[in-house]
Amino acid sequence: MKSESLLDCSEKISNDVQAVFSLNPSKYSRSEIANKLENNTDNLAIPEQVHSTVVEFAKLPGIYPDVDGLVTTNSNILLTLKVADCVPVFLYEPLKRIIGLVHSGWRGTVENIVSNAIKLMQKNGAESRDIRCFLGPAIGKCCYEVDREVSKYINDEAKEKMDYDKWKVDLHGQIRYQLTELGVPTNSIRASNICTYESPECHSYRRDGENAGRMYAFLSLK
Ligand SMILES: [Zn+2]
Repeated sequence: MKSESLLDCSEKISNDVQAVFSLNPSKYSRSEIANKLENNTDNLAIPEQVHSTVVEFAKLPGIYPDVDGLVTTNSNILLTLKVADCVPVFLYEPLKRIIGLVHSGWRGTVENIVSNAIKLMQKNGAESRDIRCFLGPAIGKCCYEVDREVSKYINDEAKEKMDYDKWKVDLHGQIRYQLTELGVPTNSIRASNICTYESPECHSYRRDGENAGRMYAFLSLK
């Protein structure tokens, strides 16, 4: 796993999980990275990602259509996501050994997809007070400008007015707020300080448009 383009985020959550984020995936495909992680590529559980708020429980590996987040208790499954500015949300409940990986872009964040993941984890026995979270690299408030229509759905603490129609929005801040509303302790939520828009090691949809590449997030139980 020693590769400068693979960011090991496990220690931000727990040493009982493998949490990895690829900064520069143009070098490797998702399957190649999975192989590097010593996981069989047949174990990947891949949400199709359609900017929905749907989170499903993954009993088996495979492709999950029309889904933007997966939760599992199966230690043979490697959860994965692709992102470029959107927030990859890594979730872990150590007592019930449940993990979740969620794609929360602006639409998912406005519509609170992370709450669906927490509720699904709770349905499977997790206590929100025990859930640990890592918010992976994403576009920072420094660089994320949205119009007023979008900003209306964002909590006051997670946005800043630039002028009448322009606001800066903190996706990490909004998701942190959503998690704490459901009882996840503030000190159990860690966040990356990498801004994907500013970092040349990252792909950014805002910066590179339609041609932007994608970065991959991975999460599995050890
Ligand atoms: Zn920035």
